[in-house]
This record gives sequence, C-alpha cells and structure tokens, in this order.
Amino acid sequence: MKYIVVTGGVLSGLGKGVVVASIGRILKAMNFNTIPIKIDGYVNVDPGTMNPYEHGEVYVLRDGSETDLDLGHYERFMNIDLDGNSNITTGKIYKSVIDKERRGDYLGKTVQIIPHITDEIEGEIEKLKSDIVLIEVGGTVGDIETMVFLESLRQMSIKKYNEFLFIHLSYVPIVTTGEQKTKPTQHSAKELLGLGIRPEIIIGRCEQDLEESTRKKIAMFCGVDDKCVMGSPDVDDIYKIPLILEKQKLGSIICDKLKLKYLAPEFNKWKNFVEKIESPAHDIDIGIVGKYTGLEDAYLSIKESFKHAGAANNCRVNLHWFESEEIKSGDLKVLDGILVPGGFGMRGVEGKINAVKFARENNIPFLGICLGMHVAIIEFARHVCGLEANTTEINKNVEHPVIDILPEQRKIYKKGGTMRLGAYPCVLERNTTAHKLYKKDEISERHRHRYEVNPDYIKFLEENGLKFSGKSPDGNLMEMVELPGHLYFTACQFHPEYQSRLENPAPLFLGLVRAALKRKINE
Ligand code: GLN
Repeated sequence: MKYIVVTGGVLSGLGKGVVVASIGRILKAMNFNTIPIKIDGYVNVDPGTMNPYEHGEVYVLRDGSETDLDLGHYERFMNIDLDGNSNITTGKIYKSVIDKERRGDYLGKTVQIIPHITDEIEGEIEKLKSDIVLIEVGGTVGDIETMVFLESLRQMSIKKYNEFLFIHLSYVPIVTTGEQKTKPTQHSAKELLGLGIRPEIIIGRCEQDLEESTRKKIAMFCGVDDKCVMGSPDVDDIYKIPLILEKQKLGSIICDKLKLKYLAPEFNKWKNFVEKIESPAHDIDIGIVGKYTGLEDAYLSIKESFKHAGAANNCRVNLHWFESEEIKSGDLKVLDGILVPGGFGMRGVEGKINAVKFARENNIPFLGICLGMHVAIIEFARHVCGLEANTTEINKNVEHPVIDILPEQRKIYKKGGTMRLGAYPCVLERNTTAHKLYKKDEISERHRHRYEVNPDYIKFLEENGLKFSGKSPDGNLMEMVELPGHLYFTACQFHPEYQSRLENPAPLFLGLVRAALKRKINE
C-alpha cells in the first residue's frame, strides 16, 4: 500500500480539496484503487453540529456519516462512494482515546499525545485498505490544530519509508510589478522540513500558470526536482484541474516516486464533459431560495449537481441566490426554474412557501429538497386545500401538522439517534415523473432530516391532486411528491445532490434542467 499526503501552505482557501480530488481522479484514471481521507483539525467529532456559515455544507455519506464538504469533491471527481472512515477530526480521535482510557484499556499507563494520540491517528489511517491512500491534511502547515496529525504522518512515513509521498500545495502571489513571488512557498516548505517532512512535489496555486523562472526558483529553494514543481492556476471550472495537473505529468511523476507501474490515464470522457461545461449551446436561469445564500459553499453539492445536469443537457445553468427571508415574488419572474433546498429552523420558511406558490401557480419548473419538500406540501395544504397547515418544526400547536416527527422515528431520536441519516431505499410508482426520470422501480438516496410527511394527511392531499410518487418500501414514509399536470413540480425528502456526478447526474436535477430549458425555448 502506498500513501500520498497533501499538505497546504501559506493560506487556507486555496482549494486544496479540489486539488486532492483531482489527484484522486488522475490516480483513478491510471487504474489505481484509491481511497481518499480528509483530516480536519477541529474538535467537533464531525461537522454535523456546525452551522453551514461556519463550515459550508455538511456532506452526508451513504453510511450516514456527516462529513466535511471535501468528501463531496472526492466522491464527485473520483465517482466513488466513501464511508465515514474517510474523515477524521481531532474530536473523533480524542473521543476514541478518552473512551479507551475510561474503559481502562491503557492498563494504568499515562495517556499522552505521543504515542497514544499519534497511534490512534495511525490506526485510523490504517483502517483504509487500497492500492493508494490519499490523505488531505486540512488547514495550513504550522497550525497548532493539525500538528499532531503531521507528527503521526511523519512517524508513519519513517516506518514505511518507500511507501510515502508528500505533496505540498502552496500559494504563489503576483505582486503589483506582475512578478510571481516564491518566498511564501519557500517559507512554508521550510516549516514542513522543520517538522521532519520533506515534500517531493510542490503545487503552486497562482492566478496564472507558473513561469519557468518561478518553477526553477521553487525547485531550487525547496529542494525538489524542476519537473516536480507544478502550477494550479485559477480556472473558470474546477473540473479542468485534473487535466491541467496531468498535462504537467503529475501521474507519471507520482508513479516514478512511489515505484508504481505507469499507465497513461484515460481522460476522453472527462474532457468531453468539461468541453460541454465550457461552451454549451443553451443557458437557463435557476433561482435557489434558501437561508444560507450568503455563502455558496453552504449549497456546494447543489451547485455542482446543476453543472452535471447542465453538461448532460448542453446547457449552462446560471444560478441566482435568493435569501428566503427577503424574497419578493417579482424577483422570481425572470427565472426558468426554482429550487428550494434543505434547511433547519423557522427563519425564512414563509418566504420559501411563497416561492413554491409562485412556481406552482405560474407553471415554473420546481424542485424541492427535504425542507423544500416540506414547504411544498405546506403550501399545497394551505393554498389549494385551505387548511391552516404547518410543520411542527416551526409550530407545535398548528391545527394541521402536515409535517411532523412520526412516532416510530421519535423513538429512534429519543434513544440518541440524532436524525434520519444516510442512504435509504425508496420505491417508485410507475407512470410518475419520478419513475420516468430514474427509470427504476427502486432507488437509494441519502437523507438528513427528522421531520416527515404526516401519514394522516396523505389520502386527503392525494384526493386534492398531489401525488406521492416515491415511498419507503413499507409504504410508511413519503419520499417523493409531484404535482401532475404541472410542467415539472417535484420534491423529495432525500438529498439527490449528494449522489450527483459529472458522469452520472442526479435524475431530479436532470428533470428540472430539461423542463426549464423546454419552458425557455417554448416561450
Ligand atoms: N429541518 C427539516 C428536518 O429536520 C429538514 C431538514 C433538511 O432539509 N435537511 O426534517
């Protein structure tokens, strides 16, 4: 087994996750089984408890793990499904060590950062079995938070001398004279050397391609080969990055360093998709009515899902973000489609309900996800059926709780289960939009929620024209709903955006993009 470790220098926010995902893509394209793992320095056990404004989107895996959004990049770029072992945090490591200490597993020993925490980290990394384990260390070298992880990796790299390769991603600023400056990179490489880690490949994030002189200077001062310094310039689309790195021969250099057999990576299909993203024949405007629109990372997987569905339809999807608390229906008039994403709490819910009403009444293609499905049902119950309806998440005493926590689910949550998390099967009814899009009788999609459609209202809502097109196999949980007769009005309890890939776009996003495009062309 081989290990590739990617560290970051100078600045955070360089897009290290995307670079790591791109390296993963190159390894995959060379036919190596690769498992990525993200190390996060924060003390939260996982990001599930963090506000999206703090941390961006919480990315949910098939097994229900709530993880860092970089795992979304890995899954999308590498077209794989990961499990919770691919994300470790300071919190997770310390919790496990402290649990062991309380059980007496350390047999009276003093429990210390070295060796107990470092060994725990090593144990976590060694759980992953693959040709190559690709490790991203979050933050920048020198952060106190990730010191112990770097120490653990250093120790591992000594034990497995021939199996480790360190890649350092750094920042190359351009100053007013137009010069590319290498000093920050020299300093951060030195900092890494001071910790006993020698990077063998340096990737310089820069506005532009690295100049030959920049490359040479970094190579000389950081002690790496000229050809092992490569540039990762700003791009208009992240899916270009694997191609840019491969052009600089990253794949063959990795093979060379790790003594792996080089097989030229296959990128034809990927190039095809990238071309479609770059110069599509059509374009549409989609509005996203959400609560965290100030930070696009809060809806990262949704943003990417639109790129995937757009590329498949030869169409650019221009996204317009609307803060649901401030929205006016006039704002929505120019849109070809509307999406209401998931969310928690009451802020902005009434604005979302108004957006759904506008989409329903004006035959504008609409997709509701999770809370977006809840508001679609509340809107229908209120304005079509005339009920004083709400979700008990917002109003516990409402006359018609069309969305509620179901008694069975309540039992699970009382026992400490925090939410319904991860992939669950969903059975689709034939002759529905859902079935036409998925082309299957049973699907599996990922969830993250507590509240469900209240079964007491299902018959009534269906009699009034809504159609529940997807249900849990036992028929108790409503997973999908649609409005027959509308151009495209679909909502789902799960999050289809977590499984969308460039090579395999999420069917519900495809449906929305197609319907929006059709509407625009016919107008
Ligand atoms: N807040 C809602 C619930 O817990 C919806 C969650 C979501 O949209 N992910 O059920």
